[in-house]
Amino acid sequence: MQEFPRYLYRAPFVVTGNGPVINDGAVLTENGLVAAVGLYAELKDVDAQVEDYEDHVITPSLVNCHAHLELSYLAGLAEDCPAPGDMVGWIRELLAARAVHGDVAAQNDASLMALARLYAGGCRAVADIGNRKESGLIGGGFKTEVLFFLELLGLCGESEEAALTALAGIDADVRCTAHAPYSSGSALIRALKKRAGGALFPLHVAESAQEIEFLRTGSGPFADFLWERGVTVADFNPPGMGAVRYLDSLGVLDKQTLCVHGVHVEDEEISLLAARGAAVCLCPGSNRFMGVGIAPVQKMLLHGIPLVLGTDSLVSNPHLSLWREMQVLREDNPDLRPEAVFAMASGNGARLLGIEDRIGAIAPGVSSSLLAVRCPLKTEAEVFEYLTSTGTDISLEWLE
Ligand SMILES: [Zn+2]
Repeated sequence: MQEFPRYLYRAPFVVTGNGPVINDGAVLTENGLVAAVGLYAELKDVDAQVEDYEDHVITPSLVNCHAHLELSYLAGLAEDCPAPGDMVGWIRELLAARAVHGDVAAQNDASLMALARLYAGGCRAVADIGNRKESGLIGGGFKTEVLFFLELLGLCGESEEAALTALAGIDADVRCTAHAPYSSGSALIRALKKRAGGALFPLHVAESAQEIEFLRTGSGPFADFLWERGVTVADFNPPGMGAVRYLDSLGVLDKQTLCVHGVHVEDEEISLLAARGAAVCLCPGSNRFMGVGIAPVQKMLLHGIPLVLGTDSLVSNPHLSLWREMQVLREDNPDLRPEAVFAMASGNGARLLGIEDRIGAIAPGVSSSLLAVRCPLKTEAEVFEYLTSTGTDISLEWLE
């Protein structure tokens, strides 16, 4: 007896993700996998239960390349935007709130609720960053796969030494990464990158102008904040350059490096990212909330930089939806091709996370966890436009 019956899902449009949109298409699934995809006319005689999705488009599931599920219990902080661009002010609030919330069970519940929201929005895999090792257990057995990274901070002096010591004691099977060039020191970043080897290495890069000011001059709001936190900022040797150039000077930019945000990068740094093959995770919703600016997406695309999308946490983004990320990205960058934007939220992310053999496109052998998105459109040209501009008004169901 089959574990799953065979289904033939039919829809006016099938977005395969690795080829043209199929008009009046169909997807045959069997035992949790796609067995065939093509024209309905060519597949209609197979022995399978037909499910007709009129007024829908069948698409690959989505991939979220940057989140912090662990912070979900602090979602209330996202009710008010910080002063535009004031990253430091926002971090202050975040740390103050984190210091008074102690109920770990409630925190875990909030993380699971956030994961459920991602799943409800069609997200099949998420690269998740946290500071507690236990957060790596979030999502065990859940339908949205969680690729967890334990993030280490320590800029200089004792705090960096402490992080390096902690790192030495972490089990080899725990993925570890750095937080950002303004919070993880050069020795720590290098050690973490070396430990990651050929695996994905995500870190926050060039998110705010305040970050760049600190890296260039060693002063400004970040320096003041770090002093307050007891970091001996005088021990920090500012590299005197932008975040991307700095990371390259440390030798940590390569195909496995995922620069999250990438808002404040100069033209020369875009060329550098392209030359090293590094990827960028755009977080347009979070960037808008923080008022930190808009990443130079079109220039990055022209340079062939792999681009993916992330929601970031509920603390800097009230909407945990990749549909909304696509919408905001297009509002901010009206010249982007909708097809390219949809790829950022699906196939590009799957490739980056190394799961493209299962997720991110519709082809024989991939997971049959696909999406049927309600899309009352008549022409193929309108499909990607609709998918990437409708935001949280998207209505979908999962095909299994
Ligand atoms: Zn983040």
